[in-house]
Amino acid sequence: MVNILITGGTGYIGSHTAVLLCEAGYNVHIADNFANSDPGVLNRIEQIIGKSIHFSEVDLTSSEDLDLVFKNNTFDAVIHFAGLKSVGESIKEPLKYYNNNISSTMNLLNSMHKHNVDKLVFSSSATVYGECKIVPLEETFPIGQTTNPYATSKFMQELILRDVAFASNLNVVTLRYFNPIGAHTSGLIGENPKGIPNNLCPYITQVLSGKLEMLSVFGDDYETDDGSAIRDYIHVVDLANGHLKAIEKLLQTNSSTSYNAINLGRGIGVSVLEMIKTFENATGRKVPYRVTSRRQGDLPVSYAATDKALNELDFKAERSIEQACRDSWNYQEEFNKTSASKE
Ligand code: NAD
Ligand code: UDP
Repeated sequence: MVNILITGGTGYIGSHTAVLLCEAGYNVHIADNFANSDPGVLNRIEQIIGKSIHFSEVDLTSSEDLDLVFKNNTFDAVIHFAGLKSVGESIKEPLKYYNNNISSTMNLLNSMHKHNVDKLVFSSSATVYGECKIVPLEETFPIGQTTNPYATSKFMQELILRDVAFASNLNVVTLRYFNPIGAHTSGLIGENPKGIPNNLCPYITQVLSGKLEMLSVFGDDYETDDGSAIRDYIHVVDLANGHLKAIEKLLQTNSSTSYNAINLGRGIGVSVLEMIKTFENATGRKVPYRVTSRRQGDLPVSYAATDKALNELDFKAERSIEQACRDSWNYQEEFNKTSASKE
């Protein structure tokens, strides 16, 4: 049995990855402090996989607590999702972001080194490409022209991981995600942001369910076909599958040290107005919206070059945006039902 530690495994992407890894026969151990997730997710993961899951409630910024998890368990590899991810909050509270995200990664690397765990998959983001305006975004493009502390913290973590990999016999696959959307088809797990969503898709599903009144489309004066900004949306289950492929690659590696950054996207740009239409078609409901000014720091167009993921991980996203919209809405409806029954 191969043992995988998933930090941040009760979060949005981590929970879907935990399900896929368990279904593929891996022995998964989740570590999370519920900073941005709900303990009920553990039950829901167990419902999907039909067995119990190992869990440690731990804040990765505490090196002692994290090290106990390594002392009490055996791991062959780690997938490191734990981190704070709100761009807006990171601008208001940069220290909170640098503290949480950088300390967690440093503590994890120390414990991995101490306990001889030498394989790591790291959650990075397309935001490390910063203001780069050339698309599709290729992994060889310069990174670090970041526009907010969240993105800078990802850039810094990538640099730290690269340096540590070569100095201490560590194999790292850094995955740069584009825009994860959608949910598990069961409707049991999905994206459940605390407070008002910042991201487009959870905002739309909350408008569709009547929780929020209207979507603001941030700008229709970009140099794109319909004037709204373009992103590369990828179904979260496809994204989770990318992690499975990365783990398989790491487990097969003969090399004692490596660092590899790989994009995970569909390689297809979709505009905000196209996303609204796709949601409307997928759900049969209207999305009320108004056009407002551009959001500060937003790029006009961002989508991934996907050749490296295909060549090195044999990864290709399979699910359509329509499917993702249907699954997001299904999750939102299930979530609303559960919340209503609790009231
Ligand atoms: P999420 O907030 O749903 O999940 C992150 C999890 O990490 C949460 O469960 C949270 O409680 C946990 N966590 C945070 N700080 C912790 C700490 N100090 N100790 C223990 N647990 C901690 O976010 P997500 O969307 O699942 O993202 C997972 C990772 O992917 C993050 O690192 C994020 O930056 C990165 N990422 C996300 C996106 C996206 O759009 N969702 C895009 C690119 C990269
Ligand atoms: N967006 C929007 N209204 C919203 C949220 C987002 O028009 O309420 C737009 C945003 O300007 C961007 C796209 O939707 O062009 C995706 O935004 P998101 O925050 O989901 O992802 P990111 O900007 O990080 O790629």
